[in-house]
Amino acid sequence: MDALRLRSMRWVAVAAPTAFVALLAYAAYFRIPSLLSVEIAFALTIGATAVGAFLFSRAVFSQIGKREDTILHRSRELAALNRLIQVINSTLDLQTAFEAFVAEARELLPLDRASLGILDEAAQALRMLAASGLMAQQIGRGRLVPMKDNARVADAIARRQTNLVGDLEREQTSPMDARLAQEGIRAAMVVPIVAQAQVIGVLNLGARRANAYTAEHVALAEQLAAQFATAVVNARLYDQEQERARQLATLNEVSSRLMAILQVDELLQAVVTSVCQGFGFYRTSIGLLDGDAVLVKACACEDCDPCPEVGGRIALSDLTEIPTRRPMPTSELALPLRSDSQVIGVMTVRRKDETTFDANEAATLQSLANQVSVALEKAQLHEQVLRESITDGLTGLYNHRYLDTFIQKELAACARYRHGLALLMLDIDHFKQYNDAHGHPAGDAVLQQVGRILLKNVRGADLVARYGGEEFTVVLPETELEGALAAAEKIRAAVEAFPFPLGRLTASLGVATCASGITDTDLIERADRALYAAKNAGRNRVKADQEV
Ligand code: GH3
Ligand code: MG
Ligand code: MG
Repeated sequence: MDALRLRSMRWVAVAAPTAFVALLAYAAYFRIPSLLSVEIAFALTIGATAVGAFLFSRAVFSQIGKREDTILHRSRELAALNRLIQVINSTLDLQTAFEAFVAEARELLPLDRASLGILDEAAQALRMLAASGLMAQQIGRGRLVPMKDNARVADAIARRQTNLVGDLEREQTSPMDARLAQEGIRAAMVVPIVAQAQVIGVLNLGARRANAYTAEHVALAEQLAAQFATAVVNARLYDQEQERARQLATLNEVSSRLMAILQVDELLQAVVTSVCQGFGFYRTSIGLLDGDAVLVKACACEDCDPCPEVGGRIALSDLTEIPTRRPMPTSELALPLRSDSQVIGVMTVRRKDETTFDANEAATLQSLANQVSVALEKAQLHEQVLRESITDGLTGLYNHRYLDTFIQKELAACARYRHGLALLMLDIDHFKQYNDAHGHPAGDAVLQQVGRILLKNVRGADLVARYGGEEFTVVLPETELEGALAAAEKIRAAVEAFPFPLGRLTASLGVATCASGITDTDLIERADRALYAAKNAGRNRVKADQEV
């Protein structure tokens, strides 16, 4: 348009004097001195030339001025781009890069709000990374906005072109537009951020003034966004590397610590705590397969201590429903724990958000789960050996060895805190006859049943052991003579009342209690003496050592 005006001015400057010269020649040729005298014609020609020259030069200067403005504007844009490139090259933090972007863009185009979202293709959503200006509070960092909820973003991504709207009050394509308009945003543009021919995110810009964005603004925003793409890619690569390094460090740490822990519960708790912290999960838990259910053995959770699920049983048939019952958006990965290709349990990790687990991460976690399986097997084996070394093979009760350790510990507590401590010794009456009559296997079954009767009739803190043969011992911590006699009588009555399949059986019991300076051998001897007193008194009865 300006070039056209300049050209027409030049024509005026040339055409005006030419026309006057032509007029003068015409007057001279047809001898019309009355029309124009030579002097007047000459003066008019000079005047017309001057007017033409003046108009021409004014147009030229105005054009130069405009070009200067354009050059100035362009140089400001270039300076802004340059500053942005510098920030991008010197930071790996997207928040900083975004702030630099907003600062530079604000200098060059109307900008009352801006937000940056990164595309999560698997979730078909936009992850909000940063926001500034109006609506910044509402655009929560890390929030996942499904593409279906924002038609303009979906359009910009699908067409890989800026989506521009002049007035949101007139044109609304999704609820997001209505929200923006409500907050006072009129003009908006969604600029796709493209890296390696792929849309990786979008910049969402908005201004209060309707139709605030010109084609030049759009072009500029696109240029800035192109620069910004580098920041996103760099930050992503850096984050991925950091994440990977952190995951490998956790993997190393967990695996080296695992092998040293030989108690199953302690091992599993150590695993879930390290995994949860090391990987930054919201929750990590381990359940072991127990028949048709999973027994939750350990759990670490960001905001629950302890996890309420621990100790619970979840039927396998219920597990399929769990994801739908989750109260918040999350992403979960369940990793099988295997022993000899048999699944023995499951480690479940849950994220704080819906970001999907990528193949690398899943592979790292599975390799960790495999190591957990090996450590778990080792700990289970160790616990089994330990259990066997203190357990009686026939009845499953504690054996003599463990009984000694337990009595020593309780005697020390008895001496220190002056708590009571009682010991019962039980012997089945005429058991030899029973064996002789029904055979040893039947006798063994009776021993097992008596063990169960004992366990059923004592408190949780009491210890039941098979002393040897058909003799059993019960240690009753914090129990005085009276309580011990009552417990012994209850056991005696329970044995007498039990309907053994091959005939009635009874037992005799001796009771001894802790006295100052008593040793473990003394305590057992006293109970033994009381037991024999019960036998001598006719069997199927209880005697205390004081009575002997
Ligand atoms: P009493 O009333 O005096 O106790 O008579 P008793 O026959 O029970 O005599 P004693 O306590 O000496 O009995 C020991 C018997 O217990 C010998 C054996 O037949 C039986 N016995 C010991 N250990 C086992 C075992 O592991 N299995 C079986 N079936 N019987 C056992
Ligand atoms: Mg005996
Ligand atoms: Mg006996």
